[in-house]
Amino acid sequence: MKKLIILGGGESGVGAAILGKKAGYEIFLSDQGKIKDVYIKELDQLGVEYEQEKHTEERILKAEEVVKSPGIPDKAELIQKIRRAGIPVISEIEFAGRHTTSKIIAITGSNGKTTTTSLTHHLLKTAHIDAGMAGNVGYSFARLVAESNKLVYALELSSFQLDGIENFRPDVSVLLNITPDHLDRYDHRMESYARSKFRIMMNQKENDLFIYNKDSAAIADFLRHRRLRMQKLAVSEKYCKDGVLRTQQGAVLSMAKSALKGPHNWLNALCAVEAAMAMGASPDLIQKGLNTFVNAAHRLEMVAKIKGVEYFNDSKATNVDSVFWALKAMTKPVVLILGGQDKGNDYEQIAQLTKEKVKAIVCLGVDNEKIKTFFSAILDEIIETRSAAEAVRSASKFAQSGDAVLLSPACASFDLFKNYEDRGDQFKAAVKALQVKTAL
Ligand code: ADP
Repeated sequence: MKKLIILGGGESGVGAAILGKKAGYEIFLSDQGKIKDVYIKELDQLGVEYEQEKHTEERILKAEEVVKSPGIPDKAELIQKIRRAGIPVISEIEFAGRHTTSKIIAITGSNGKTTTTSLTHHLLKTAHIDAGMAGNVGYSFARLVAESNKLVYALELSSFQLDGIENFRPDVSVLLNITPDHLDRYDHRMESYARSKFRIMMNQKENDLFIYNKDSAAIADFLRHRRLRMQKLAVSEKYCKDGVLRTQQGAVLSMAKSALKGPHNWLNALCAVEAAMAMGASPDLIQKGLNTFVNAAHRLEMVAKIKGVEYFNDSKATNVDSVFWALKAMTKPVVLILGGQDKGNDYEQIAQLTKEKVKAIVCLGVDNEKIKTFFSAILDEIIETRSAAEAVRSASKFAQSGDAVLLSPACASFDLFKNYEDRGDQFKAAVKALQVKTAL
């Protein structure tokens, strides 16, 4: 029996264990941290051996292959040692890809992955195509492969997941955009980060399809000097102007009834539409899917309208590019709630839009100096807050009927919140509380 070591006992590690067990591997799972109770229960039920809060190196170094969780950096000493010992280290995506013959649509980008993957999945299902969704969103790919047998899988892939692939080959790959993010894991080199995103299509063959955003400078630069063997389909803002999507094959679809707002979402939608069409979905059912899609929370989510002011929760906007697109999508004057843990942000990208659309900035973070310094040259109204409730209260004072309050922080949330979901949930609770108070 082949000895498989799985590093990391989260969703991807446990998914790999389920699939590995089913495929007849001898498995040992090791996690440096504590494994969640739900996963321990699953591992026990499966009869998979595991350890937590440590890595027993001599056992790990006896592996024939290692499946590594995307959370563990390549630079980690243990990973280096495993590699030096000549043991292949792969991601759970690579592992799962080997055990399925289903069609795969793989989606990556710096921003818009979850939105596009869930929309693609929804369009396929609306078109009565038996589809599953996995990867960075929801369940792991390995778990789905082990437990279901779908015709098509829509996969959201992060750069970390792509770093660990070797032969993984999607039928359709989608590259939405490449803007600075997670550069700390790539030696602060944009080029290395971009290269990792392009791995999504590196194994594609003549009949596979590569859908990419040709407006992205980083993508265009990379493709300029390369000859690609697969079919290529370039999307652009030009093909989805004013929310009218024009596909390569001449279908015309409308975003007028869709809950997805703004040019960035139209581009996401066009990618999803092209991917669904490549799987045989018909334009009329795709239109039905566009009209009925409900996005995951915390992505430009409309929360409430109070005294003529619209409140949007875009807590998932953890980099400057996503705030840029959120501001672009706004059609009213904005009170912007910004801040948190800085990831090396350069706010220049939103300087012009801030001038045009933002009337006040409410900082929501522990250290707001960078934001205050940058924006004080543009805006008079910048105030600091330390909780979602305080931020909503302050924003509501600046906003007048006809304005929008937008939580789109450009930063990670860990200085004041558990994660971006917690930040968004607290924001929504504060908005709802304001709504009740105003109604009384
Ligand atoms: P990801 O899974 O890549 O993080 P999400 O769909 O969860 O992407 O969206 C994350 C943030 O990026 C949200 O604030 C969302 O409004 C914004 N966003 C979505 N699509 C795009 C895009 N194509 N370009 C820039 N920002 C986007």
